Amino acid sequence: MPFPTKDINLFMKNLTSNFPRFQLELPQWLIDFLQEQPSTFPTAEARMDLVTTLSKLNIEQGTGGPFGAGVFRTDTYELVAPGINLVLSSQSSLAHAEIVAIMMAQQKLVVHDLGANGLPPHELVTSCEPCTMCLGAICWSGVRHLICGARGSDAEAIGFDEGPKPGNWVSELEQRGITVTTDIGRLNATQVLKNYVTQGGEVYNSRQGSLETPR
Ligand SMILES: [Zn+2]
Repeated sequence: MPFPTKDINLFMKNLTSNFPRFQLELPQWLIDFLQEQPSTFPTAEARMDLVTTLSKLNIEQGTGGPFGAGVFRTDTYELVAPGINLVLSSQSSLAHAEIVAIMMAQQKLVVHDLGANGLPPHELVTSCEPCTMCLGAICWSGVRHLICGARGSDAEAIGFDEGPKPGNWVSELEQRGITVTTDIGRLNATQVLKNYVTQGGEVYNSRQGSLETPR
């Protein structure tokens, strides 16, 4: 039986009165920075350099963790939407750089599927290999290609939990029509991770990584 409109309106009213509206917003420094960048990034190295620079600036500006990402068109190599880690500033464990980039690109193009008919192909470039959560998000995003900088093991080396990611995650993505390129600019991207912990950056694993249940 269809849900009557009157009830939906009432439901939505109650929902918004009891729960805050959630909004992800990119910081102004990022908007300003992008205005000074070229409009296209023709090589994988140039695209990686951009997202790694975003990860570095994110630390310097104090807006989040040491991760950057971007969704690009693969026909023109234009940046569709950037992403930076906003976990701490947005109070959301979901706000990883890859998720932010995918959400921003989908909102900008007003689609839930970046691989929809009539759209140019898109790729996700990320300064570090995706964690378990982002791996799932990539499968559903519609992107056709993934480019990674640092390895998951590089993030784990500074204390970040990458989650229970399957060892064959690259072939799992490729079976779903998403080709993968790894180790592009790995050294640079890893250096950003190392600098983050050296400077006392917070490693924001759930429960500070503790498996114990408080009594
Ligand atoms: Zn992630």
